[in-house]
Amino acid sequence: MKNTLALTLKVIPYSDRSKIITALTKDFGIVSIMVNNLTFKKSNFVSFTSPFTLSEVIIKETKSDLFSLKDVNIIDQNLHLRKDFEYLRYAGKMTKAIIDLHFQFKKSNTIFVLLEKFLKNIFINPKSLYMSFLLKVLLNEGLINPKLRCNICNSLATNLSSGETICDKHIQKGSFIFSKSEYDILHLLTYTKSFSDIKQIDLSTNFEEKIYLIFKELT
Ligand SMILES: [Zn+2]
Repeated sequence: MKNTLALTLKVIPYSDRSKIITALTKDFGIVSIMVNNLTFKKSNFVSFTSPFTLSEVIIKETKSDLFSLKDVNIIDQNLHLRKDFEYLRYAGKMTKAIIDLHFQFKKSNTIFVLLEKFLKNIFINPKSLYMSFLLKVLLNEGLINPKLRCNICNSLATNLSSGETICDKHIQKGSFIFSKSEYDILHLLTYTKSFSDIKQIDLSTNFEEKIYLIFKELT
């Protein structure tokens, strides 16, 4: 038996009264959890099968790569996400990014705390929080480390190439090119510890696409 905190990411109906949950756990990274005997009498089990729910779970390893849910205590259903379609949309993008990461988290605890905090505060600025989330996941995994100076020649830099910071002279095929103001925002979104810093930031669709492509390329 294992006891941990879990965030429900994805739900697959399995049979009449069973569902398989993909969850991010604080201690074991991403796991699949079978929930059996779902009835209205077990409202905590039912709530657990709703996406974005934060709970404390007791799970048991079964023969395959699957856990079964033994008990659950719901901490927060994050119902505020359902107040606005934009909140739900960007919350969905964040959880999808986590599911798409096919490697083991070096520090699942950090990613868990990050996702929990970002889901809770998404109303502050959904798109900027999503961008900041992707950059912070890459930073945490050691895949980017945006600096203000070129890694090769130490000139002022505003571009990323395979996760490395580079200046305009060292741009190569496949580099991601940013304007100075865009790069300042990227830098801020990566390192900020305060949501109030990013509350007013208005990001272009082009910027969002570039960050998403960097995330896809490096993960
Ligand atoms: Zn350079």
